[in-house]
Amino acid sequence: ICSSEEELERVCVLGHGSSGTVYKVREKKSSQVYALKIVHGNNDPEVCRQLFREMDILRRTTDSPYIVKCYGIEEKPWGDTGMVMEYMDLGTLDTLCKELGGTLSEEKVAHVARQVVNGLSYLHSHNIVHRDIKPANLLVNKNMDVKIGDFGVSRIMCPSLDACNSFVGTCAYMSPDRLDPGAYGGTYNGYAADIWSLGLTLLELFLGHFPLLQPGQRPDWASLMGAICLADDPSTLLPDSWSTVSDEFRSFIQCCLNKDSSKRWTALQLLSHPFLAN
Ligand code: ADP
Repeated sequence: ICSSEEELERVCVLGHGSSGTVYKVREKKSSQVYALKIVHGNNDPEVCRQLFREMDILRRTTDSPYIVKCYGIEEKPWGDTGMVMEYMDLGTLDTLCKELGGTLSEEKVAHVARQVVNGLSYLHSHNIVHRDIKPANLLVNKNMDVKIGDFGVSRIMCPSLDACNSFVGTCAYMSPDRLDPGAYGGTYNGYAADIWSLGLTLLELFLGHFPLLQPGQRPDWASLMGAICLADDPSTLLPDSWSTVSDEFRSFIQCCLNKDSSKRWTALQLLSHPFLAN
């Protein structure tokens, strides 16, 4: 557990999120660098709920190398909360991918997939669903470690309530069973919905654009369901690039993007998929 905020010096702003600001900070006595997330206005009950959920999850996930670590939480008397996290010096995968020219090679996508599937397998085995897997919520450091971050809308599943159906997360990456439960067989299942979002995330990194929609098209419910309905096989989403990818990558994407949530592979099954083995 690291020191309180007085012992940290702010270096710069790393980014602004929906609930607050993230700073790069340095601990004065050790010169160790961290990311400090300051969430304002937790007098608002919804912000407060979201924050406590995130803190609760980060407290339970400290022993996985595939999840961004949280070292300490500090509540301020005037209503702000500070969360000291592991600093991921290359930022999020969406900005990194743009800086690298907009697309990642199949080999790099496999490297990302291997780590995110390990992270999801860890979360799911602890009954946690992330609910917002997308390139902007995957953080990278210069060792090319990829870690899952931003648990603002995540949820600890209660065994009797398997279908946590509240409509949170980023619409574009939502699975068909979440957008329209029952449409393709299989009921809404939070764990399987994370796997759908993973499939879209990997495709987006490989293609350089969001696979289901045209550039500029809004990710509203009707457009997404329309695109999912047309895509009888995910290969139709990739008319140009599909023929150039390996059988393993193609199969992996099909295992993630099965429209029937009950046939979609679990994170544990994906860990032994040949795409991740090599
Ligand atoms: P919110 O949950 O409020 O949307 P985020 O957690 O997404 O906020 O953080 C906002 C931005 O701060 C991110 O897009 C990223 O650029 C940066 N950031 C967040 N956490 C870290 C971290 N641990 N290391 C480095 N940068 C981070």
